[in-house]
Amino acid sequence: MKTNFTLLSCALILLLQGCALSSHPVTNTTLGKASSSAEMERLIEQPGPIQLETINSADWSVSLAGLVNLNRPAAIEAGLKDRDEPIQVYAHLLKHPQRGNFLVDTGVSKKLVDDPSKVGLNWFVQKVMHTEKLQLKKSTAEILQGMDGKLSGVFLTHMHIDHISGMPDIPNDVPLYVGAAESSATSFKNMFVRGATNQLLQDKQPLQEWHFQPDPQNKFEGIIDVFEDGSVFAISVPGHTPGSTAFLIRTSHGPVLLTGDNCHTRWGWEHTVEPGDFTEDNDRNLKSLKSLKELVARHPQIEVRLGHQH
Ligand SMILES: [Zn+2]
Repeated sequence: MKTNFTLLSCALILLLQGCALSSHPVTNTTLGKASSSAEMERLIEQPGPIQLETINSADWSVSLAGLVNLNRPAAIEAGLKDRDEPIQVYAHLLKHPQRGNFLVDTGVSKKLVDDPSKVGLNWFVQKVMHTEKLQLKKSTAEILQGMDGKLSGVFLTHMHIDHISGMPDIPNDVPLYVGAAESSATSFKNMFVRGATNQLLQDKQPLQEWHFQPDPQNKFEGIIDVFEDGSVFAISVPGHTPGSTAFLIRTSHGPVLLTGDNCHTRWGWEHTVEPGDFTEDNDRNLKSLKSLKELVARHPQIEVRLGHQH
């Protein structure tokens, strides 16, 4: 009787705590150095050396309640109701003059669209994601084919399936970079996507985690100068997922902010409302979103590219 009770308690604790998103190996990265918002903002106004192209890999549509927190006063006031909302799945190709080509997020592989089961998405994940609504525009393989030179790395804004859905096309020797605790923090929801995440990462390089340090100016939770030349900054913006990361990129045309899924939609950005059901910690996500909006308010020349909408 006592054993049964102990077993039951253990099972319950396991269920409530959930599991890590992935069992894929994780290491600390040696790329980049801790920076600060003062250092980043000192450089923002000056054009940088990066060429950046944002590619719409697939059109898709998902529930607005996932993309925008409909319970926030601004959403209620605007009369927003849940509906199917058209979105895009992006990959961002950045070229550094010395360090080469990097992708921010992966776009979508044709293999995943043609046969999601084959790349590890079980029926439940397919049903929840509505993978049948994915309309491929430019597959990850096509993006890589059009690239001048080889791929030197992939920076992941986070590890939701729609951001690693190009993995089947990413060569196995390409380094992968991710926010701290992104794959190791435990949650109940992870139980449903862990299998698919593991399979998409199978045979890939270990995930290299950014080593964020507190921002001396306290505007963000941490900032990394990725190439140690002030051209690309990784910014810790937790909330949507534990390791969510935004990128400030100094292109030859001026600064571009890639928000990742800290903000999915145009409406969400304009009204400072964070994503809804797709976000793990809404209040933390909103805090991070506000800090990005304040950055753009201080530097209005920043071009903002959102997680899933223009
Ligand atoms: Zn996401």
